[in-house]
Amino acid sequence: MSEIFDVAVIGGGMVGSAIAYGCAIRGARTVLLDGADGSLRAARGNFGLVWSQGKGARMPAYAAWTRASLDRWTAFSEAMGSAAGQEIGYRRTGGLDFCLGDEDFQERTEEVRRLHNLVAGGPEIQMLDRAELRALLPNTPFGPNVTGASLMPDDGHANPLLLLRGLHAGLHRAGAEHRPGIAVDSIVATDGAFLITGPTGQTRAHRVVVASGLGTPRLAAQIGIEIPMRAVKGQNMVTERLPPLLPMPASALRQTAEGVIQIGVTSEEGETRTATSVNHLARMATRAVEVLPVLKQARIVRAWAAMRPMTPDGYPAYAQSALYPGAFAAVCHSGVTLSAIHASVLAEAILAGALPAEMADMHPARFEGRTDVQAH
Ligand SMILES: Cc1cc2nc3c(=O)[nH]c(=O)nc-3n(C[C@H](O)[C@H](O)[C@H](O)COP(=O)(O)OP(=O)(O)OC[C@H]3O[C@@H](n4cnc5c(N)ncnc54)[C@H](O)[C@@H]3O)c2cc1C
Repeated sequence: MSEIFDVAVIGGGMVGSAIAYGCAIRGARTVLLDGADGSLRAARGNFGLVWSQGKGARMPAYAAWTRASLDRWTAFSEAMGSAAGQEIGYRRTGGLDFCLGDEDFQERTEEVRRLHNLVAGGPEIQMLDRAELRALLPNTPFGPNVTGASLMPDDGHANPLLLLRGLHAGLHRAGAEHRPGIAVDSIVATDGAFLITGPTGQTRAHRVVVASGLGTPRLAAQIGIEIPMRAVKGQNMVTERLPPLLPMPASALRQTAEGVIQIGVTSEEGETRTATSVNHLARMATRAVEVLPVLKQARIVRAWAAMRPMTPDGYPAYAQSALYPGAFAAVCHSGVTLSAIHASVLAEAILAGALPAEMADMHPARFEGRTDVQAH
């Protein structure tokens, strides 16, 4: 056990893989330790939006962080496509959130007004009425109940499984080690390095990053970082491949680069099992058919559920340990969207040994003593 890595990242999901990739391409000797196949893995079950619409309404630092990630996504997706050996389906087409009925349209219009100028100098979310939506997407056969949509001009989507493949292939190409099937039990600071122990052995590194999704609180506590988290279940389904119908992704409805329509997505609290349920899937399908009645004829070929790693306020949490400098923790919802900034700004900060001031509001110290938890 003589080898000492510069950085050990614990968790090979969307967050840990992006950080490990970012460290490896910057020349750090990096190891990525990932858990067992049976662990909860949002990276393999998400909706694939690269999305800023509505994000960070109560935390401007998160809105700006999301915007900064989006600004990096075009170059990042090219690097991921090159590493994965095929493009990862990133389409920066603009993103919609459909309104069904007049009340929904009025409420969304109010919300869009509140979100005005969320990130200074950034693109503005817009409200489209039905006529404007039809002019934007003349070939999309909307149902009669669609009264309009909000539009963020540079939101988009990608294939999240190809993104994950790109991250893993990219870090491998940069010389990092990827060790799957290593569920880490403990992290101990010893002699200027961290000793990381799992069932199959030990790893030593000068820096350690806990980015283990829902496994984070237990491991982060060992390096003196408290991050309360809960699982929020989301169900998804996909249709067979269909001719082009929807050129822009929407919240809970998108047509992938391969042609399938992905229909999402529930937000279920207090769930412990990743089983799907017919009542939820039926509700999701009914809404999708209301938006695009032609989907009534489409065959559903697959449905699944996954658990979102969620902090109490739904915003990310990033910290360096005050007790053990060099030990970090990182968790977030929207790990697809944020992967471009995790692989760049966050990886650089970890290598530099200090998180930048722009991240201060996202420190988990904000949860200390809080009882008023709320979803974002
Ligand atoms: C239904 C659904 C829809 C979503 N839609 C979107 C979307 O459209 N856009 C978007 O940006 N985000 C979306 N997300 C969120 C996104 O998937 C997550 O933010 C992201 O996957 C979180 O990444 P993570 O690495 O923290 O966790 P995960 O991806 O869950 O990965 C955690 C990893 O840590 C490993 N691990 C756990 N414990 C240990 C241990 N002790 N030792 C070693 N490894 C360990 C696990 O094996 C796992 O591989 C969605 C999520 C869900 C569930």
